Amino acid sequence: AKSAGGNRFEIADPEADARAITRHGLTNALPAALDRGEFFIEYQPLVHLGDGSVHGAEALVRWCHPQHGVLGPDRFIPLAERTGLIVPLGRWVLQEAVRQARFWSRRHTDGGPLRINVNLSPAQLQHPGLVADTVDVLERSGLEPGALCLEVTESALIGADEDRLKPLRQLAEMGVDIALDDFGTGYSNLANLRRLPVSVLKLDRSFTQGMQRHPADPVDLKIVEGIVSLAHSLELAVTVEGVETAAQAEQLRELGCDTAQGWYYARPGAPDRIHTLVLADAV
Ligand code: C2E
Ligand code: CA
Ligand code: CA
Ligand code: CA
Repeated sequence: AKSAGGNRFEIADPEADARAITRHGLTNALPAALDRGEFFIEYQPLVHLGDGSVHGAEALVRWCHPQHGVLGPDRFIPLAERTGLIVPLGRWVLQEAVRQARFWSRRHTDGGPLRINVNLSPAQLQHPGLVADTVDVLERSGLEPGALCLEVTESALIGADEDRLKPLRQLAEMGVDIALDDFGTGYSNLANLRRLPVSVLKLDRSFTQGMQRHPADPVDLKIVEGIVSLAHSLELAVTVEGVETAAQAEQLRELGCDTAQGWYYARPGAPDRIHTLVLADAV
């Protein structure tokens, strides 16, 4: 808070200033961090609501910073977006996650391959190398395109014209799934869904949170029911995020959601945990 009177040029908010310095420092450190291999990926399982079996995993990037410790993506993805470093960083995440998924698929041949979900930021969507890079990563790893799902936020696609959608359409035609992430947080124009090359809706965590109350708000339930039936009529699968309790999982299953992700099943973690979960499934 600004001190009353006195020196008018005093720093208004020392904490905000410190945060800005950290942001600045983190931004400057990003390129070398990528070179030095300071990023790593945690995987969070996606589970079939019907029988609880593992459907796949979402790759979530973290930065093991030499001074600040492990930083979550909310701390550095926006900075990487602003500087353009998100393009090489995103490419690294894709390559690493696909390599991991290929490793899983070698071990688990029955029941189809484990799916891998990778987040794409708006800057990556606009980068001209997206399709070629993705094809390259898939070909080099040997992972089938159908095992990859790219998550794009609703807001990144709002108002996107055909040119902007073209790379996603090309990837979808190759068999890569495109998911609309954080669905329901933007100005979802439901009619607009039809024209997007998406095959999965990821319902934002805010819907799941609304279901935590007992009994859940009947209007919330109606909304989710409506979204699910619309999605299914457009042949989209519905994934729900942020499932933290058995009650939520049950409710969402009854509402017809297909797959789920959340702390109730597992927190994001090291890749061998996914391996263990799938093995446990197989017996
Ligand atoms: P997101 O794509 O919506 O990912 C889901 C976030 O919800 C993750 O946060 C996950 O840890 C968290 N989460 C999962 N289950 C639960 C739950 O049951 N309860 C609660 N409260 N939270 C849960 P995280 O890992 O901090 O990632 C935050 C965001 O950073 C992601 O949101 C995504 O937008 C972005 N992100 C992560 N990795 C990447 C990446 O490789 N590239 C890009 N462009 N963005 C990424
Ligand atoms: Ca996501
Ligand atoms: Ca999400
Ligand atoms: Ca989210």
